[in-house]
Amino acid sequence: MKTKSVIVIGAGIGGITAATHLAKHGLRVTVIEKNSRPGGRCDRISRDGHHFDTGPTLLVMPLLYETEFAALGASICDVLDLKRVDPTYHLVFDDGSQLALTSDMKSLQEQLETFEHGSFQGLMRYMDEGYRHYHLGIEKLVRRDFRKASDFFTLDNLPLLYQVKPLVNHYRNMSAYFDDPRLKAAFTFQDVYMGLSPFEAPATFSMMPYTELAHGVWYPKGGMYSIVEALTKLACNAGVEFVFDTSVERIDVNGASARGVMVNGQLIEADAVLANADLPYVYQHLLPQDGQAQKLAHKRYSCSVISFFWGLDKTYEKLGPHTLFLASDYRENFDHIIRDLSLPANPSLYIHAPARLDSSMAPDEQDTIIAIVPVGHMSEDGGQDWNQLRDEARGHVFRRLSSLGINDLESHIKFEINFTPLSWRKRYNLMKGSTHGLCHNLMQLGYFRPDLQHPRYRNLYFTGASTRPGTGMPTAMVSGRLAAQRITSDLKM
Ligand SMILES: Cc1cc2nc3c(=O)[nH]c(=O)nc-3n(C[C@H](O)[C@H](O)[C@H](O)COP(=O)(O)OP(=O)(O)OC[C@H]3O[C@@H](n4cnc5c(N)ncnc54)[C@H](O)[C@@H]3O)c2cc1C
Repeated sequence: MKTKSVIVIGAGIGGITAATHLAKHGLRVTVIEKNSRPGGRCDRISRDGHHFDTGPTLLVMPLLYETEFAALGASICDVLDLKRVDPTYHLVFDDGSQLALTSDMKSLQEQLETFEHGSFQGLMRYMDEGYRHYHLGIEKLVRRDFRKASDFFTLDNLPLLYQVKPLVNHYRNMSAYFDDPRLKAAFTFQDVYMGLSPFEAPATFSMMPYTELAHGVWYPKGGMYSIVEALTKLACNAGVEFVFDTSVERIDVNGASARGVMVNGQLIEADAVLANADLPYVYQHLLPQDGQAQKLAHKRYSCSVISFFWGLDKTYEKLGPHTLFLASDYRENFDHIIRDLSLPANPSLYIHAPARLDSSMAPDEQDTIIAIVPVGHMSEDGGQDWNQLRDEARGHVFRRLSSLGINDLESHIKFEINFTPLSWRKRYNLMKGSTHGLCHNLMQLGYFRPDLQHPRYRNLYFTGASTRPGTGMPTAMVSGRLAAQRITSDLKM
């Protein structure tokens, strides 16, 4: 009998994971990737001995990685050399106060009490809630496939309405635990990973600060790109074929099915097509227009970021691995980014110094620094001046660094590479340059996110950040596994 075939469009985390599961089920799998290497948003740039993870820098939700690697037949400890990062973040507030988020509870208690008397007890209660949200959320919402509405709207899921607080506003919910706005910010800023402001995010997302403190933030030796290398090795061992530097031009459809993909004007046929490229982009650029692309364009998208990658001729030991500057006008920051699609006047921002965790990320006595400034995604009218916004963002980074007594970093830059939303769109075909795809507000969560399967072309499937369950590296692995399960069950493998 002829072996059935699947073409995967894109070698992002979801695509590589799905391809591996499919190949292990005996399918002939070809991954076609427009760029010259796998990884998608989890990318790497190396120059003159400096190595930059250009997308993800935080390995969070280690338990989810563990189960997803196990589902691929691998142990995470065998394929990655992991180190726990503790303290996870150094938070720096506008008034000069600092907080090192650590799993050393004694140190955390001492620090928190200087911000607000009794706040450690508040944190313990918040962690209790985060524990519930994390475990119920992962089990009932993240790791499960919802093929039809009745899989989601079940009696069993009904208690989730009060158990994981999807209808409660995250920031408002913080008043039950802390009064000090700095502490409310310290345990809600993680919502930005979902492309959301805590002022609109559901309180369900307390699962993020919970897992960061309880399960840890980790770092794989060699950087986050080593996850891509590990996954690609598993895929190749399973027999997946990768074709790089090749863009899929369109998905060829016929009636109610996809026949294959067009590459360099040639049709490559397959029994199923799995699109890992950003879902709204696929509807807009790779499929016949039937009104769906416009509907998707009007959904809510996550923010974007302006990133700076600097090779420095000096080491800045003062900078811990993950430093976060949180602005006192916390709410206005999110309003500027999400509502006005712009750069705040005093943006919160993040600095990553990977050489603090792995000396091989920079040459001896030099440093590798990544600065990330959240910004609105590209607007419909194209009115944003990205060169100007990039230059403003760079100025904000230097200004923030000087508040830590680092005044000479600019003069020690050997080279700079930077990304704006235009770069994100061009490099990875991300709609609106939005770094996390469709955002995760209530109307775009769980079953309400676009399905893993096209409603009309039934042998066309999706995986990745803009489909289910949503953004993040381990979640993309879940998405890949769920999409592969659908394909193997539909092809009766
Ligand atoms: C700045 C930034 C920081 C982040 N930080 C974190 C973090 O710390 N921790 C975390 O867990 N997650 C983080 N994320 C999120 C995480 O990186 C993503 O959710 C995840 O990598 C998305 O994977 P994906 O499967 O959707 O594939 P994608 O990364 O979207 O890959 C899709 C692939 O499809 C390819 N493609 C597109 N169009 C075509 C075409 N026509 N033909 C062929 N190939 C095509 C693209 O080139 C790309 O390689 C971050 C993301 C960004 C951008």
